[in-house]
Amino acid sequence: MNDHKMSTLHLPAYDIQLGDLRESAKTWLREKAYSKIAILVDENTAQHCLPVFLEKTGLEDFRLIQIPAGEQHKNIDTCQAIWRGMMSGGLDRRSLLLNLGGGVIGDMGGFCAATFKRGMDFVQIPTTLLSQVDASVGGKLGIDFMQVKNSIGVFQDPSAVFIDAGFLKTLPYRELRSGFAEMLKHALIADAEQWHILTGINNLAEVDWLPLIQHSLRIKQHVVEADPFEHGIRKALNFGHTIGHAIEGDALESAHPLLHGEAIAAGMIAESYLSHLKLGLAMAEVKKITTFLSGLYGGFRLEKASYPTLFALMQQDKKNENGKILFSLIQPAGNAVVNVACDRSEIEAALDYCAAASA
Ligand code: NAD
Repeated sequence: MNDHKMSTLHLPAYDIQLGDLRESAKTWLREKAYSKIAILVDENTAQHCLPVFLEKTGLEDFRLIQIPAGEQHKNIDTCQAIWRGMMSGGLDRRSLLLNLGGGVIGDMGGFCAATFKRGMDFVQIPTTLLSQVDASVGGKLGIDFMQVKNSIGVFQDPSAVFIDAGFLKTLPYRELRSGFAEMLKHALIADAEQWHILTGINNLAEVDWLPLIQHSLRIKQHVVEADPFEHGIRKALNFGHTIGHAIEGDALESAHPLLHGEAIAAGMIAESYLSHLKLGLAMAEVKKITTFLSGLYGGFRLEKASYPTLFALMQQDKKNENGKILFSLIQPAGNAVVNVACDRSEIEAALDYCAAASA
C-alpha cells in the first residue's frame, strides 16, 4: 500500500487532501488559530488511530472526547455526551472539532459541531474505507432516530477533509469489505469501466487503495457539486440504499446486525432487479451484479416475515414524495436514473429475488 502520494481535490468550500497526514493535516493545523481543539474518537480509533494521528501531526494541546464504537450509539444520547465534553472543555464558536474515525464519528461529530453554539468548525479525518470514499464528503451530517437511519441531521461542509489510506492497515476485513460496497455503488451509478476494474479485484487485503479512493471520490464530488442539497441527480448516490437502509435498520435491532456496506450490497442486488422490472436493465447484467455481490457479501438472511418492517422503514425514506417510495436505479450499469416510483408488489418481487440470491 502506498500512502505517501499526495493529491488534493478542490471543492468550492473546502479541500479534500489525500495522502500522508504529515504533509496535509500537520501543515493545515499549524496555519490555523483555533481557540481550542477537541478530538472525537471511539474506543477503536482511540486505540488504533489516535497515536498515529498525534505522531504524524505533532498536535499536543487538545481535549479528547471518547464515545463507544458502533452504529447503535449514533443517537441523541451520544450527542449529549459529546456536547457535554465540548461544553466542559470550554469550546466556543472559534474552536475546532477533529472527527477521527469512521462514518459514525464523522456524521455524529459533524452534527454536534454544526449545532454547538449554532455552529463551530470541524474537520473530517476518516479512518474506514467507507468514510474515506463516501461519508466524509458531501456535507451530510446526522444521527439515527426511532430506528430510521440518519433521520435527524443537517447539511454542513467541514473545513477540510484529510484522507490517509495508512489508517486502513488496522481496519478489520469485514469493515474494509463494507466500505468497498460504496465504491462499487459509485461505479455502478457512474462508471461502467470502473465497475469492471473493481470486480477484477481478488483480495481486498492486497489493494493499493489510494488511487481507487481518489477515483471513487471524484465520482461522488461530481454528483454532489451538481446538486448539493439532493433535489435531483444527487439522489443517484442512493442506489441500493432505499432497500439497503431498511435492511440495515431492521437488522440493527436483531441479534445479527449488518454493517452498512453489507446491507447496501443486499440493497443493490434487490434494486438491480427493480432496475430490470422498471427500466429494462438486461437480466444478464442483473445476474452479473448479483453473482459478484452475493459472492463477496452473501450469507445474510432475508425472511418474508420481515417484509412488513422493511416496508414501514422504506416509507420513512427521505427521498419519498407524496407518499410514494422513490428509487434511484440503474440503466445500464454505469448510469443512474432517479425518482423511479415503485409499488409494493414490485418491491416485494425485488426482495424475493434478493432473498433467493443470498440464500
Ligand atoms: P463506523 O464509524 O462505525 O466504523 C466501523 C468500525 O471500525 C467501528 O467499530 C470503528 O471503531 C472501527 N474503526 C474505524 N477506523 C478504524 C481503524 N482505522 N482501525 C480499526 N478500527 C477502526 O462505520 P463506517 O462503516 O465507517 O460508517 C458507517 C456510517 O457512515 C453509517 O452510520 C452511515 O450512515 C454513514 N454514512 C454517511 C454518509 C454521508 O454521506 N454522511 C455516507 C455513507 C455512510
